[in-house]
Amino acid sequence: MKKLATKCVQAGYSPKNGEPRVTPIVQSTTFLYENPEEMAELFNLSKAGYFYTRLGNPTLGVFEEKMTALEGGVGALATASGMSATMFAVLTIAQKGDNIVSAAAIYGGTYNLFKVTLPRLGVETRFFTETASEAEIEALIDENTKVIFAESLANPAMTVCDFAKLAKIAKKHGIVFIVDNTLPTPYLCRPFEHGANIIVHASTKYLDGHATSLGGVIVDGGNFDWMGNPRYPLLTEADESYHGLVFGEAGGKGAFILRARGVCMRDMGAQMAPMNAFLTCIGIETLHLRMPRHSENAFAVAKALEGNPNVEWVKYAGLPDDKNYALAQKYFDRGLASGMVSFGIKGGTEAAARFQKALKLFAVVTHIADSRSCVLHPATTTHRQLSESDMEVAGIPQNLIRLSVGTEDAEDIIEDILQALDRSK
Ligand code: PLP
Repeated sequence: MKKLATKCVQAGYSPKNGEPRVTPIVQSTTFLYENPEEMAELFNLSKAGYFYTRLGNPTLGVFEEKMTALEGGVGALATASGMSATMFAVLTIAQKGDNIVSAAAIYGGTYNLFKVTLPRLGVETRFFTETASEAEIEALIDENTKVIFAESLANPAMTVCDFAKLAKIAKKHGIVFIVDNTLPTPYLCRPFEHGANIIVHASTKYLDGHATSLGGVIVDGGNFDWMGNPRYPLLTEADESYHGLVFGEAGGKGAFILRARGVCMRDMGAQMAPMNAFLTCIGIETLHLRMPRHSENAFAVAKALEGNPNVEWVKYAGLPDDKNYALAQKYFDRGLASGMVSFGIKGGTEAAARFQKALKLFAVVTHIADSRSCVLHPATTTHRQLSESDMEVAGIPQNLIRLSVGTEDAEDIIEDILQALDRSK
């Protein structure tokens, strides 16, 4: 199975003779073993197998394998949401006294996690802006830096990750490079091919694609030398909660996921529900059909917004004169730039409210990336907890409208936007 489209449809589940053709929903918290010694081995991580759904479940396993295949990694861990995927990815390698270095232009929830919540647990975040030079980013790094974090396509700033720049810095300092690949999905971008070590997703978005299931996933590239690096004691030193197990040795290439599952999931328990894993797998079966359509529709919308008298600016990395066009061409496949468009509406917050009220096809929802078009004003919703200066750093001006362009007919979508813009004045 080489091609992405085939992996979308088939990877993760290969039933044998007489077994269900479609991934079964294993709605069971627990699994039976006749031999108590075998159960003890499972608890000890010395044997692989399902024993309690918080630590793993066959339906989740199908989703994890599908994502491992799509991203080209060595293993994955399904989580209850995109937020828990990011939190667990960081806490697998960082603890009190450590710091992480992150792009400032990221999803508002992740920004809050990094800016407010992780520092309360003793993990500080140092943010860099889109225009930061290599030297400026390197100046944020010290011996306690455990992560460099960025979104491959930032929500809603719509900036494209400069993989070459960040991967070079991460490699030079021996730091793990984590990429949130939610918006392009592996169908448009595969961060491991560009130097990322760990990928996280909110599968809630395009992977599910139909706004049915909250979920997340961490995928391990298996391309980081844990044991040869003194920076990561959580992986290279004995873990007292497993009687001295060293994750880097026991897990080999899959050490990161072994610790994420064995410690973060065991102790914090944000497991995905089997039903959500099933629905997300069904969603992924059409990912290769939906992503081109989302991208083509979004491109048509961005073109229609350009030059409209009620629009101050448009951000879409697929537009040839967009600042991020060159990076999108370099890192995203098939010249496609996903389905999200941000634009600045003339008249600020009040005009934004009038525009949203006038839309008929677009729904005002706290969501993106499903087949139905939707709209949001981040400054008064997803990013409203941020101060004005933080919003500026995160690249979210007050007049930014975020459109998640669905898979409806482009003509209907554009007609709706244009009539609502007329009524936003
Ligand atoms: N990452 C990105 C890029 C997102 O857009 C979101 C949510 O919008 C998340 C992470 C968080 O995902 P969830 O809502 O599933 O926790």
